[in-house]
Order: sequence, then C-alpha cells, then structure tokens
Amino acid sequence: MVEEEVLKEVDKGLMLPLMEEFYTIQGEGYHKGTAAYFIRVGGCDVGCHWCDVKESWNAGTHPPTAINDIVENAAKYSNTIVVTGGEPLTWNMDPLTSALKEKKLNTHIETSGAYPLTGTWDWICLSPKKNKLPEERIYDVAHELKVIVYNKHDLIFAEEQAAKVNGDCILYLQPEWSVRDKVVPLIVDYVMANPKWKVSLQTHKYLNIP
Ligand code: SF4
Repeated sequence: MVEEEVLKEVDKGLMLPLMEEFYTIQGEGYHKGTAAYFIRVGGCDVGCHWCDVKESWNAGTHPPTAINDIVENAAKYSNTIVVTGGEPLTWNMDPLTSALKEKKLNTHIETSGAYPLTGTWDWICLSPKKNKLPEERIYDVAHELKVIVYNKHDLIFAEEQAAKVNGDCILYLQPEWSVRDKVVPLIVDYVMANPKWKVSLQTHKYLNIP
C-alpha cells in the first residue's frame, strides 16, 4: 500500500500506529490483578513531563497496522482487551472496537480524554491531565477516574476532576512511579481523610511485569 493510502486508512481508524501489544496482568485501578491483552497505540501530544512512555508520543515511529490483524492476534490471548497509549483517542476507535466486539471481547480504554470519545467501551478509565483537559462528554460515561499524583497540588486537581464525573465513577489516586516514596504517604493520609477516594498502585511494576 502506498503511503498516501496508509494515511487514509489511519485517518479512518482502519489502521493504527501499533507501538506494542502484550498479554499481562492489569496492574492498576478497578481491574487490577486481572489478566488482559494490552494494545498500546502510538501518538500523544498531551506532554506530561513525567510520562513513562515518551517513546509512544511520535506516532510516525510506530508501524501503521491493520486493525483486523491486531484483533485476530488479541483474540488468541484474552477476552479482555485494554487499549492504551499514547493517547488512543488521537485516533478513531470505532472500527477497532467494532471488530473486537464482533469477537465478543471486553473492551477497556485508558485515556486522558483529551480528544473526542470514539469507540464502544465496556470500561473507560479516565486519567485526566492538567495540560490538556478532557472533553466534557467523557465525564458522564467514565467508569473510573484515575488521577496521577506527582505532588500535593495534584490533589486539588483531583477534586476538581471528581466534581465533574458521574456519580457511579470510582475515584482513584495513583502515585506517579518516580516519586512514589514521597507521595504514597501523602495519598494514604488523604484517602483516610477523604474515603470517597481509593488508592491505586502500579502493581505490575512491583511484580516486574509489563
Ligand atoms: S497522556 Fe499519557 S501517554 Fe500522553 S504524555 Fe501523558 S502520561 Fe504520557
């Protein structure tokens, strides 16, 4: 396929810049401890300074891959598929999730919500970022709000975001990994004083798995 055709396919969401895909244990949030197949899509311009997947940012460095190939592969491993990035909503997620749903797979997304919500999702993890706030619609449909805490000011941001989500949305505070020793005590105290929040840890990193 010539480059122009590939770009058109990516534009429609029929091909996606695939950074990596792997079968592992979901380490974070409500589904932690559950086996799932992860599809990491390249491309993100949110620009979090502490981002631990900066290699994902430049979509051009990840091969445009036909969604049918992605889905065929994913279906061999798990009935729960987590789409992450990068920022997956950079791209039209409708074709990918339709194909996953045809195989009766559970579709989960991890997103900053910075771009319009596309796709059909069984679980939406909204992890908003200060430098590019979520589009309004996603607050109504998010299943969990996961705020990454790098310093104490992030707790103020967390409350601002919690005020916007729907009433069923589960609220998580998660320490940013590189400063975990400093912020875990802060989060523990905060959650005990404000029990509507729960602690989320990146347990996959403690388990030394992807
Ligand atoms: S939104 Fe996610 S992928 Fe994008 S810069 Fe922030 S942490 Fe990294």
